[in-house]
Amino acid sequence: MTKTAAVEMVVVPCLRDNYAFLVHNRATQQTALIDAPEAAPIQAVLDGRGWTLSDILITHHHDDHIDGVGALRKGARVIGAKADVHRLPDLDLAVQDGDEVTVCGQTTHVLDVSGHTVGHIAFHMPDAGFAFTADSLMALGCGRLFEGTPAQMWESMQKLRALPDDTLICSGHEYTESNARFAASLDPDNRDLISRIKGIAAARAAGQATVPSTLTLEKRTNPFLRADLPEFKSVMGMADASAVDVFTKVRALKDRF
Ligand code: ZN
Ligand code: FE
Repeated sequence: MTKTAAVEMVVVPCLRDNYAFLVHNRATQQTALIDAPEAAPIQAVLDGRGWTLSDILITHHHDDHIDGVGALRKGARVIGAKADVHRLPDLDLAVQDGDEVTVCGQTTHVLDVSGHTVGHIAFHMPDAGFAFTADSLMALGCGRLFEGTPAQMWESMQKLRALPDDTLICSGHEYTESNARFAASLDPDNRDLISRIKGIAAARAAGQATVPSTLTLEKRTNPFLRADLPEFKSVMGMADASAVDVFTKVRALKDRF
């Protein structure tokens, strides 16, 4: 659980390896859910704390992010991408890149982060320092490209990389250990990565989540955020290649890893 002055955040493990997030404002008694992989574990946290959902924010249309919406929504305002209204649960508010909404008293920016799907959005709460990235930027990884192109996902990575360094990246799955094995296969001498991997192994051995992570750490260790850095290009043997080509190569290698 992470506390800031105005809101606290709770990570809720769901299904096999999904994460949902609850943001609660004690002063206003509002609670927002970001993604709803399944209702029961989320409802259990709400019941345990005496919280009622005021908002449900949806990042993208995949079942493992929306299946719980119907059971949980009750009176909550459901917010999702305008581009995906045809394949999301009924929305009370349809949003797009650049929109600003107030959720739990927090100004929340909507970013289009297409790549995993076309229409995937992320939510950034700058005052709290939270970014809900689901299957775009993930801990040491990024989502598989089911619909978008590598160029689209690389653009999304750059948007997220531009957020403040201390932003907490709240991503949608516990894939970090396998992402770490892949990252180490590309960049075995990266000291930040080596020490991060030790921390990941310790956390997982203790049954702890490796999500959220800080953007600073992702920038130093996540190969999908590093496609334009000279040191990473040379590690890839692609010193003269474009960032998009390096990103494309990294994504292709990960798909076969
Ligand atoms: Zn997905
Ligand atoms: Fe997912």
